Amino acid sequence: MARIMKTDIKSLSETELKSLLEALGEKPFRAAQVFDWIHKKKAQSFDEMTNLSLALRERLKEEAELVSLVPVSVQASLLDGTRKYLFRLEDGNLIESVFMPYHHGNSVCVSSQAGCRMGCRFCASTIHGLSRNLKASEILEQVYAIERDTKERVSHVVMMGSGEPFDNYEAAVRFIRLISDDKGADLSIRNITVSTCGLTEGIRRFAEEDLPVTLALSLHAPNQALRESLMPIARRYDLQEVIEGCSFYFETTHRRLTFEYALMNGINDSEACARELSELLKGQHAHINLIPVNPVEERDFRQPDSARIASFVKILEKNGINVTIRRTMGADIDGACGQLRNRVLQNS
Ligand code: SAH
Repeated sequence: MARIMKTDIKSLSETELKSLLEALGEKPFRAAQVFDWIHKKKAQSFDEMTNLSLALRERLKEEAELVSLVPVSVQASLLDGTRKYLFRLEDGNLIESVFMPYHHGNSVCVSSQAGCRMGCRFCASTIHGLSRNLKASEILEQVYAIERDTKERVSHVVMMGSGEPFDNYEAAVRFIRLISDDKGADLSIRNITVSTCGLTEGIRRFAEEDLPVTLALSLHAPNQALRESLMPIARRYDLQEVIEGCSFYFETTHRRLTFEYALMNGINDSEACARELSELLKGQHAHINLIPVNPVEERDFRQPDSARIASFVKILEKNGINVTIRRTMGADIDGACGQLRNRVLQNS
């Protein structure tokens, strides 16, 4: 018997909910109630929606599904309260998310795809390729499920887990609209960061969505040749073109960008690289976030020692570039994103 596809109701905007409910012969005002149950009260079943008639609740159960994620494992850091979640999706796919408590609020790092097809050499998420895109509801549920588990409110979201947000553009934008909806989870749009490996058409399109999030560009190299050798996707996008896309994002949204640069010993951490990087970013309204590379078991990249990092930073600062070094969180639990998932995939 063919399985009838149910509507993924958690991915719908209030306007789309209105159409769904009208098609079921309901009054449009019901949409606000259902939206409130799903995104404000974070209901886990239609039975909880007690201000709807019993008949409507039964009808919704037939027509729609409420995507819900249950963690298959949680690793908690004893050092700083970081919690790393592994979730199994309905079709058996695995994804990772990370909860990080900061003084300024709780942050969750979400995955936008199961796996990734961008191929960055230093990244664990890409080792098994792309399995599939996540639905907006599955991205959202990473945050809601973590709130349920920790009983804490999440105020910040970074799209820096597995996957490339602009390779799953529609769902990524839908997710951002839903989580920042003031009738729902109501996250401040300024507390959302989207990280991209530099799909230029995505950056330009995203600039015009009127969603002024913080955009992070994964740069990792100061010139085209080195960038191509670390990030195969860079062959498709000339570095200058990517930087121009970033300028366009700033001019359109007036939001300052972050450039991510993972320091890899002997690869991109020389003083010459620091000078070239300063030249590249001169005049950009940006700051650079240096991340000592997270060693990935299957790859041979190492972190530079602290003296090398210090001289790299010094050159950037001397050139007036705003620099931060990313603090390592959860150092005692599975390192880089994607590693937990890979371990499970390898053992299964
Ligand atoms: N696809 C997006 C977001 C996912 S990765 C992107 O490329 O930006 C989030 C960030 O972690 C990116 O800057 C990515 O380059 C970086 N990253 C991946 N593997 C890493 C590792 N082993 N060490 C340090 N940073 C890493």
